[in-house]
Amino acid sequence: MKIVLATGNRGKLREFKNMCEVEVIAFSDILGKIEIVEDADTFKGNALIKAQTIYKKLESKEYIVISDDSGISVPLLGGIPGIYSARYAGEDASDKENLYKLVDALKEVGVKKTPAYYTASIAIVSKYGEYVVHGWMHGDVLSATRGEKGFGYDPMFIPNGYTQTLGELDDKVKKSISHRAKALELAKPIIQMLQRKS
Ligand code: IMP
Repeated sequence: MKIVLATGNRGKLREFKNMCEVEVIAFSDILGKIEIVEDADTFKGNALIKAQTIYKKLESKEYIVISDDSGISVPLLGGIPGIYSARYAGEDASDKENLYKLVDALKEVGVKKTPAYYTASIAIVSKYGEYVVHGWMHGDVLSATRGEKGFGYDPMFIPNGYTQTLGELDDKVKKSISHRAKALELAKPIIQMLQRKS
């Protein structure tokens, strides 16, 4: 069974390909561009929508489709941007626009640093059933950006136990502590079980 990733996000694709020991294919390589309406009100709901949509469109049902819905939440700001992380600054906003909007929101309330956390919800859809797992990474967000590594909100996020942002830290560090890596650890035995079944 081949694994198809239901994401068009380049940052996520790179991280998944880096973390998975088996070969993964981006859905766009098989299906081209597809609009997916993520209208659930949880990370879990949106992850399932993405994986189910791609699975339904694939002609062969021998694929395992994996999706990730993720984002950053800032409790001081009532949990925003949360599930709206990808479109915080507008429907077609770039990662940079979203990042600077959150920086500005922190400046507006006059804080330099406040706790925040990333959530990743990974959905797995196959002919044998549907599964969802989660991972979290806790830390602080700054009202400033530092470094260019990672993607999205990484230049303003300092993971707990570190002094540098994910924009400054080596990719290897993120790979060992990220919300996505933790969720993927839980997803791996499920994927292996599905591959054994086929
Ligand atoms: P999704 O593609 O709808 O799941 O949106 C995820 C959004 O959350 C991304 O566009 C980023 O803005 C943000 N995000 C999720 N994971 C990360 C991460 O590991 N680093 C930085 N930003 C992230």
